[in-house]
Amino acid sequence: MRLIMLGAPGAGKGTQAKRIADKYTIPHISTGDIFRANIKNETELGMKAKTYMDKGLLVPDDLVVDIVADRLNQRDCDKGFILDGFPRTIPQAKALDEALQVMDITLDYVINVDVPDEAIVKRMAGRRACSVCGATYHLKHNPPKKEDQCDVCHGTLIQRDDDKEETVLKRLTVYHEQTKPLIDYYTKKDELVTVDGTRDIDLVTEEIIRLLGD
Ligand code: ADP
Ligand code: AMP
Repeated sequence: MRLIMLGAPGAGKGTQAKRIADKYTIPHISTGDIFRANIKNETELGMKAKTYMDKGLLVPDDLVVDIVADRLNQRDCDKGFILDGFPRTIPQAKALDEALQVMDITLDYVINVDVPDEAIVKRMAGRRACSVCGATYHLKHNPPKKEDQCDVCHGTLIQRDDDKEETVLKRLTVYHEQTKPLIDYYTKKDELVTVDGTRDIDLVTEEIIRLLGD
């Protein structure tokens, strides 16, 4: 199963991608997670990416494309993968097409998680992430068992710097300008399926699994 999760920031891509990755036993590849790991380890890539991420902007295409192409060539992607947060621009989508062609593989589905902007802004205020393992929670919709503590590794939960309302609004503008055109791009290729991301987390998962099949 080779999949892409598409959607606005906070639409629930990561939440669903983790569940789908578990269900189909395929690696979950989040470019946002890759950048955050690099920031934590203070790598050159991380320091470069941070200057864009803090402002709610996209990291330049040339910094993202090679990372993903290398990742897809690793052995664990042989059986499939789920890309979360990539591609986010038309040039990234074209670069991915080329990489897949070289690998002689095709995508199965591009899953568009649809959530209106007003719901996103409300939702982002409640997102919390584990500072150690990156697991994601929501104070109301997906609360941790213990306040401020990760269920998985007991790390401290924090609000991401780029989840402050001002940055979320900027990220939404960037989404509409640079990422939303991908809906058209993948519709034309007949690869897009859309799910209603405003429903309960479990219901969204059920709908995706129904579309993908067992
Ligand atoms: P993305 O990866 O698209 O940025 P996340 O998966 O991190 O989004 O979800 C954003 C926030 O919304 C998280 O706090 C998550 O727990 C919560 N969330 C995800 N899906 C839903 C949903 N269907 N209903 C309500 N809250 C959700
Ligand atoms: P995410 O965790 O997917 O919300 O990504 C967090 C941030 O990382 C984004 O707001 C961007 O600054 C950056 N980022 C993640 N994926 C990409 C991508 N494919 N292209 C450019 N920037 C990205």
